[in-house]
This record gives sequence, C-alpha cells and structure tokens, in this order.
Amino acid sequence: MIVVMKPDSTEGSVADVVERLTGMGCRVHRIDADRVTLAVTGGTPEAASLETMPGVDAVLFGDATPALARAAAPAPSLAIAGRATFRVGAHEVGGSEPFVIAGPCSVEDEATMHAIAAAVARAGAVGLRAGAYKPRTSPYSYQGSGEEGLHLLRRAADAHRLLVVSEVLDPVQIPVAARYCDILQVGARNMHNTTLLRELGHGRRPVLLKRGFAATIAEWISAAEYVASAGEPRVILCERGIRTFETATRNTLDLNAVAVARERTTLPVFVDPSHGTGRRSLVEPLALAAVAAGASGLLIEAHVEPERALSDADQTIDTDTLARLIARVRAVAACVDDGGLRPRDLAAPRLARA
Ligand code: PEP
Ligand code: MN
Repeated sequence: MIVVMKPDSTEGSVADVVERLTGMGCRVHRIDADRVTLAVTGGTPEAASLETMPGVDAVLFGDATPALARAAAPAPSLAIAGRATFRVGAHEVGGSEPFVIAGPCSVEDEATMHAIAAAVARAGAVGLRAGAYKPRTSPYSYQGSGEEGLHLLRRAADAHRLLVVSEVLDPVQIPVAARYCDILQVGARNMHNTTLLRELGHGRRPVLLKRGFAATIAEWISAAEYVASAGEPRVILCERGIRTFETATRNTLDLNAVAVARERTTLPVFVDPSHGTGRRSLVEPLALAAVAAGASGLLIEAHVEPERALSDADQTIDTDTLARLIARVRAVAACVDDGGLRPRDLAAPRLARA
C-alpha cells in the first residue's frame, strides 16, 4: 500500500500517519519526493482509517504503484539528474560510463576462468560474471558447480581487479553467494519468486534483476519493488529478451522496455543482448542499440574459446569481439544525448554537413 501525503502536509501529520501505521504492525518507508510518499509493507493496514487523517491525500493499492523504484536514489548526492546511481567497489552503476559485466554462462575450469578474467579485464569490462547455480530448463543439462565455482570465480576476478556477479536460485544460497559476489543476479525464471526477492531485500548486496521472459514491464518493476521495499534499494533492472512469435532469435530483445523502465523508475537499466538474441553474431549490434536506447550497463556472455563453453555456446562471443564491442559502446554512449543526463555530451560526432 502507498500513502501519498498532500503537498502542504506538515511534519506533524506525517509523523501521525507513520505512528498509526506502525501501530497496525506495518513497516513504513518514507520517500521525500515532490511530496511525501509512504510505502507500506507488512502488518494489516486499514485504509479507511488512514484516508481521513489530516495531511493524507490518497491511499493507493496494487501493482501500478511502484513507489520505491520510482524514487530510489539511495542518497540525493549520488543521483545524476534524478536517476539512482550507486557505487560497487570503485565503479558507478547507472552513471555515464557504460558498466559492462562479461564472462561465460557457467563457471568454467580454473585455467579457463583465469584466461577469461584476464581477457575480460583487458577488454575494459568492470565485472566478471559466470553462473555457479544454473537455472537450466532441463534437469539433464549442466547444473553448475555451486560454492566451489563461486570460489574459483572470485579468485579469477580478484587477480584482475574485477567485480563478481553471479546468480542465486534459492534463498538458502544468498549468504553463501554474498561471501563471493559483489552483485547478486536474479534470473528470468525467478523474477516472480517473491520469497527470493524479499530475502535479497535484506540488503547484503546490490541485486541485478532480469526481466522474466513472459513478464510485463509493470510486473518487472513490481519485482524490483519487492527487493526495495524489503530494504535494499540498490536494484539494477536487466532486460534480457522476451518470448514472442518470432523464431529467428532465441528471444526478442525488448528495447522498448529500456526506455519505458527509465521513464517509470529511477533505477539503472542494463541489457543482456546474449540471452536477448541467442546468437553470437547479433550480440554486438544489439549491445550498441541498447546503449543508444539508454541502457547504462550490459551483461555479455564471453569466453576465450566460445565453442567450448559449458553452456550457451551459441550466444557466447570471443573476447576480441568483446574488446571491440566495449570500445564501440563507449563511443555510442558518448554521443547519445539523453536529455542532458549524460555529462559527456560531446560536441564532436554530430552529422557532418554536406
Ligand atoms: C544467465 O544469465 O546465464 C541466465 C540463465 O539468464 P536468464 O535468467 O536471463 O535466462
Ligand atoms: Mn547463459
């Protein structure tokens, strides 16, 4: 439930509403936007008794009210023109520099992971990503290497000063994965797993939330709201393609979603063109398009020998292609004028006059 206060409500009336809600057993997140908004979770809030309180403008329910995702900047000083940005290690998420995370679909053997980490760092990515817990469609497909894989992933990343990103499938994996990872990924198949989302909201690590392949944008934002309302505002939305009638590609990368999510929330929006297309040859053009559409980061499956990848080989690019992709993505980001939000709005590459 969301309680929207009137623009001229007093601090006293806000405090009274918060006290009433707390008395009903609710948890209240106060958002100071153009007017005070209270996002309410838990307990048994009685709307009728709140609606008539002094200073209350409206009491709203339902999926159409993503309050925290809309105003989630953890601290005003971190926000670029109203967008939530936050730091992970030495790097800024949601800022003007594209935040590229790359690596194999699954954690590979130690020598291969070290070779990949070296090449990913050289290419200019800031994060190394590989799955240790794999959400496979078939139980007979490779299921991942678990904690041992996370350990190996961390060691390879540390050797090349990379951040670590990996997926969790189940709440019991969170404390283990949080020991090794800088960002925890929720995969497309788990976007609707509200138990997992709430548990991730307990704030151990920033969360990269993939859009479900059959989820609407509103459902995706509501899933982010689950994490934020449980206490972790550092959520990255990641578009990874949806299922459509089209069979030429594994999924249809929905770049509309990037623009819509940026319009409806302040959260950083990333794109995964690897799962979004399912085809190696399409990853680079769609990565460029994603950044042009406003994505502030990319998730790319890359490997030193893509053909030998343990999973998703068809959509995995080699690390030379990754290096070229990152260079080109930076050039696109520097040229995109997205309403003054990119500070490096270069004067240079405008269309040349005839
Ligand atoms: C992955 O990132 O390797 C993965 C399984 O992705 P998705 O959840 O988007 O299918
Ligand atoms: Mn994959």
